[in-house]
Amino acid sequence: MTTLITNIKELLQVRDTNVLKLSGEEMKTLPTIKNAFLLIKHDTIVEYGKMEELTSLEADQVIDATGKIVLPTWCDSHTHIVYAGNREQEFVDRINGLSYEDIANRGGGILNSAEKLQNTSEDDLYEQSIHRLKHVMKLGTGAIEIKSGYGLTTDSELKMLRVIKRIKKEFPVKVKATFLGAHALPKAYKEDKKGYLDLMINEMLPKIKEENLAHYVDVFCEKGYFDLEDTERIIEAGKKHGLTPKIHVNQFNAFGGIALSVKHGALSVDHLEELKDEDIEALKGSKTIAVALPSCSYFLSIPYTPARKIIDAGLPLALATDYNPGSTPSGNMNFVVSTACIKMKMTPEEAINAATINGAYAMGISNEYGSITRGKKANIIITKPVPSYNYLPYSFGENNIETVIINGEVI
Ligand SMILES: [Zn+2]
Repeated sequence: MTTLITNIKELLQVRDTNVLKLSGEEMKTLPTIKNAFLLIKHDTIVEYGKMEELTSLEADQVIDATGKIVLPTWCDSHTHIVYAGNREQEFVDRINGLSYEDIANRGGGILNSAEKLQNTSEDDLYEQSIHRLKHVMKLGTGAIEIKSGYGLTTDSELKMLRVIKRIKKEFPVKVKATFLGAHALPKAYKEDKKGYLDLMINEMLPKIKEENLAHYVDVFCEKGYFDLEDTERIIEAGKKHGLTPKIHVNQFNAFGGIALSVKHGALSVDHLEELKDEDIEALKGSKTIAVALPSCSYFLSIPYTPARKIIDAGLPLALATDYNPGSTPSGNMNFVVSTACIKMKMTPEEAINAATINGAYAMGISNEYGSITRGKKANIIITKPVPSYNYLPYSFGENNIETVIINGEVI
C-alpha cells in the first residue's frame, strides 16, 4: 500500500538527518518545504521533496493537499487518559471558591477518581478510555504516553496498566505506559505513608515487571503528596525493575525535585509552573527534558510554565496535554500549541517543535516519530486549507485538521 500526498502548500518539520531533540535556539527553526509531495509506503515515510522533483504519480492512493499544510502528528508525552467517570462537580466547586487543595483535603481530587476506578470493571474502563483516545487521534495525536495512578491498590493499578497494554495492542497510535502508583496516598494508608511505599515497591513493581506493563515510573513529587525522600525511594525501586523515571515536579512548589530527577537520569520532568534558577542550572547539560502542560495551567488558573526562561537558557522543552479528569479534562494538542504561543510567548516554530520532535523525545520515541524523515513512521496531519502555519496556533479553539494518517492509514 502506497499513499502519495501531492501539492502540499507547506510540509513542516522536515529533517533529512534525524535529530532526537531540539534545545534553546534550535527550537526557533522549523524546517519546511513549500509546494511539496510526500510518499508513504505501508507505515513508513519513504520520500518527500518539491513537487517539481516528483517523477511518478503512481500510488495506490493519491491525496491532493492543495492549499493545505502537512506536518507530523502530535506526540503527547504526558496523559492520564485511562480513568473512570468525570469530576465536573469539583469544577463547579472550584468556581464557587474552593481550591484544588481544599477539594483534595475533603476526599475529592485524585481519591475521588480512585474510588470510581476501583468500582469500574476492566472492560468498562477500556471502553471509556478508547472513547477519549479515538477523539484525540482525530485531533492529530499519533503517539501518547499514558499513566496509571487512579488505582492506588495493587489490583486497580494493574487494571489500569492492563487497559493501557490493551490499547497499545488494539490501536495504531504509539503508546508508552508509566506506573504512577505514587500519585496520592490512598485512604487506607492515610496515616501510613511508609506502608504504601512498601506496597508499591514490594508488591506492585514486581507484578508490573512480571507482566511487562510499564516503561516508565512517575511520582507526584509535591508538598502534601510525596517528598524528596519518598520520590527517591520510588525512583530507585522503579529503576531496579527496569523503569526509567518521568517525574511530576514543581507544579505548586519548587523544593529540589528537578535536581533529584536529573540525578537519577529522568527522561523528563513535567509541570514546572514554579521554577527557580537552581532548577534551570540542574537541567543544564542533562538528558532530562522539561515538559510544560499549559492546558492544566489554563484549567486551574495557576501560573504557566516559564517557557521563555527555559528555552532562553538553552534547554529543550516539550509540550503535552496532561489529559486527566481533575486538572485537564482535554487531550487537545492543538489547544496546547495555541496556548503555549498565547500565554507562554513561544513562537509557532518553537511550539510545533515542542509538540512533535521534543514530545517524541519526552516519551523515548524520537528515533521513529516526531518529524518528516525518511524511514520514520508515517504519522501525518493534513490540515484544512489555511493561509500559513502561523494560522494553526492563531485560530485557537478552531479545528483546522482535515485528515489524520497513523501508521500509514487514514483514520
Ligand atoms: Zn499529570
